[in-house]
Amino acid sequence: MEHLSAALCQWYAANQRKLPWRGTHDPYKIWLSEVILQQTRVAQGLAYYQRFVEAFPTVADLAQASGERVTRLWQGLGYYSRARNLHLAAQQVVERHGGRFPESYAGLRALPGVGDYTAAAVASLAFGLPHAVVDGNVYRVISRLLGISTPIDSGAGKREFASLAQALLDKARPALHNQAMMEFGATLCTPKSPQCGRCPVADACVALRSGRVDELPVKAKKIVQKDRFLVYLFITWGDSFLARQRGDDGIWARLHEFPGFEVEGPLTDSELLASEPFAALTQGLAHELEAIGPPLTHLLTHQRIWARFVELRLQGPPPPEHPLGEYTWLSPSRSEDLAFPKLMLRFFDQRRQGRQSPSLF
Ligand code: SF4
Repeated sequence: MEHLSAALCQWYAANQRKLPWRGTHDPYKIWLSEVILQQTRVAQGLAYYQRFVEAFPTVADLAQASGERVTRLWQGLGYYSRARNLHLAAQQVVERHGGRFPESYAGLRALPGVGDYTAAAVASLAFGLPHAVVDGNVYRVISRLLGISTPIDSGAGKREFASLAQALLDKARPALHNQAMMEFGATLCTPKSPQCGRCPVADACVALRSGRVDELPVKAKKIVQKDRFLVYLFITWGDSFLARQRGDDGIWARLHEFPGFEVEGPLTDSELLASEPFAALTQGLAHELEAIGPPLTHLLTHQRIWARFVELRLQGPPPPEHPLGEYTWLSPSRSEDLAFPKLMLRFFDQRRQGRQSPSLF
């Protein structure tokens, strides 16, 4: 297996992309880039990485920041529990480790939000420890190179690929090896149309030899996307609007949101306005209906969200004890410092552009 690693490292030395977190041994910057790049493309993650490093040059700066500022900087990257864990982990590094990242796999793995992959990445890239990273790219490269068809999303597959990745690792230079594997999977042995004609390990590739490149890697479970239909009420009074901060769970953890509810399926405008949850949220309110927007869709791995925004203008504040009492009035300038889900940012954009037309979901 050594020759495979050597060939990939040689290829990497000549073909790697220039990225700001490469060439550093600073565990803070390596960790930051790895957390940002989970579920995020490099092109998108780059700007976020630069923004974070500029705002928080050290882990102590990040630890001291307000949760609001961290979430706001993360806005648009999705999977917001990552931002919360990033902040918590920075605080732990400062409080429990004197501001220095633990220099062992187990110590890193114990930090909030740090899984096997991130612990192996930081341990190898920052401290030169012999831990192989296993991410989507590595699964694909190993599966094709060695012709392994065990499903990568099964328990057996995870164990098998982790042990193969560790066997392939060049223990004398784990940082170079890990980066080479990931870069190779990201840019050459890609999910669709891999460039086998330019591949430095094509001679050894079992998938190429057996005509199975398009079949590997194998996934046992098909991703089922569920349709969800959400209705949000954009309730204004003067210049301000109502919103609240979400709790710590879910894909939009700690982001701000308008009052709203979920329905079973598409509704016409009149069905929406006559629905029970709409009546419950607007009962006793003197209001004027300003607009019902067209549906905005938002795709997540397991969900396709259809959101509609109903604009209501109040003629006075909600009475005490009203279900809307738990929401806060936000002025435009205050809301600029807060983070909202992408869907709501798109609603703000559309509203600014004055595009509203009634329609079905
Ligand atoms: S020959 Fe093609 S499928 Fe095999 S490792 Fe190289 S790029 Fe990937």
